[in-house]
Amino acid sequence: MGDGSAKRKSDIEISMILAGPNDLDDAIGKVVRQGGLLEEVMRECVALLGGLGNDVDVLLMGQPWDWMYRMAVRFQQEPVFATRRCNDRALPAIGEALSEADRVWKKRNLVVHSAWAVCPSLLGGSCEISASRGGKVAEGEFHVEWSRRGRSSRSVDHRHVWELEEIILEFETVRCNLVEGLREFTPDQVR
Ligand SMILES: [Zn+2]
Repeated sequence: MGDGSAKRKSDIEISMILAGPNDLDDAIGKVVRQGGLLEEVMRECVALLGGLGNDVDVLLMGQPWDWMYRMAVRFQQEPVFATRRCNDRALPAIGEALSEADRVWKKRNLVVHSAWAVCPSLLGGSCEISASRGGKVAEGEFHVEWSRRGRSSRSVDHRHVWELEEIILEFETVRCNLVEGLREFTPDQVR
């Protein structure tokens, strides 16, 4: 919201932005849900690319993303792991879809492991980012902090709900690409 357009919201209104249902929580919820759906497909990738069969499903349960991704890539690169019945020509496209999936997963982590808040500058506090932009904070723009392993200071930035909506769309695309690739690879096993 531009400052000039409407009368300024009161501090109380602003501090309540995230108290009830709101676009930010909706979008973060969708990012989390999409992540869960993609994890399911990644499990399927490991099982099918490795020619593992249903009996090893239990081994794949609860495995973290990084493990599943590494396994899938390894199986994709060394098709000797796969059963002979599979269509190896589908492997290059699957390889691309896998790295796309990992790229989106990293974006997801940065959303899920960050602290999203109303910018303190709107609540009488100070924020260097907002100050550097003349104190303007747009509708759907939030103050986000996260920490990185091995660094003593926290990273801070402003991020937007529309960025989350983009991630949600990217999730849908990579999931479709992976399923499509798996279907080419093992037409009889992928629904
Ligand atoms: Zn801020």
